[in-house]
Parts: sequence; structure tokens; C-alpha cells
Amino acid sequence: MKLELSLLSGELATEFKTVQAMVAIYCRDHHQDDHQGKSLCKSCRELIDYAEMRLDRCPYGQKKPTCNKCPIHCYKPQPKEQMQAVMRYAGPRMLFPHPILSIRHLLHERRAVPAKPGAGLSNRSQRKNRGE
Ligand SMILES: [Zn+2]
Repeated sequence: MKLELSLLSGELATEFKTVQAMVAIYCRDHHQDDHQGKSLCKSCRELIDYAEMRLDRCPYGQKKPTCNKCPIHCYKPQPKEQMQAVMRYAGPRMLFPHPILSIRHLLHERRAVPAKPGAGLSNRSQRKNRGE
């Protein structure tokens, strides 16, 4: 699994870590036969890469609400379905191996969704502004 957080920072990096941990739990329990010695199967690795790209481009940037509360539905139907299955399965199983990430996520979920984001807040725009 790719663990270096090359693109994301702050809250987005934490959210990405949460997603990675959830996909890892899901993949371990559902796709054992597809691992070929790697920690994640190919389709779960692709899902994680997709999630990273979506987080990078999220128009809320660092003010992002949790995905299940977000009014912007940015996932395409196929990865969306895949991710919903992951969340449903791994959500309740996160507390024991990842108590801090889980609690942060639950607290974050209770925050109000911020007002519609202005332009240029996404992690990607911010990276571009910094000249990265
Ligand atoms: Zn998998």
C-alpha cells in the first residue's frame, strides 16, 4: 500500500489515512485471493488512488465535510458503489484497530457542513498556488 502522503496535507491527509485503513480492512476480508503478495488487490489500490485524486480536487479543500454528509457528489457511480460497500463494512470495524482515526472521523461527522465553497480552495489549487 502506498503510504506516503505525497499530495495531501492537514485534514485531507487524515481523511485519506482513514480511507486507506478502511479499504485495507475491506480488502483483507473480501479479496484475499487477489492479493498476489501485496497488501491490497488491484481494484482496491485503484479505489485508493481515485479517492486521493477526489480529495485533492475537493472544492471544500481543508474545510471538507465528511463524504457521507457532503452535498457535492463527486464520485462516479462505480467507485461510489465500491466505496459505499467499503464504508458500510469497515466503518464499524475501525474502532478497535484505529481508535484515534475513528473518533476523529465521528467528531468530524457531527460538524456542520460549511457553506458552499468559493473558488480555489481545493488542495490541488492550493498546491498550484504554492507552485508545486
Ligand atoms: Zn481488494
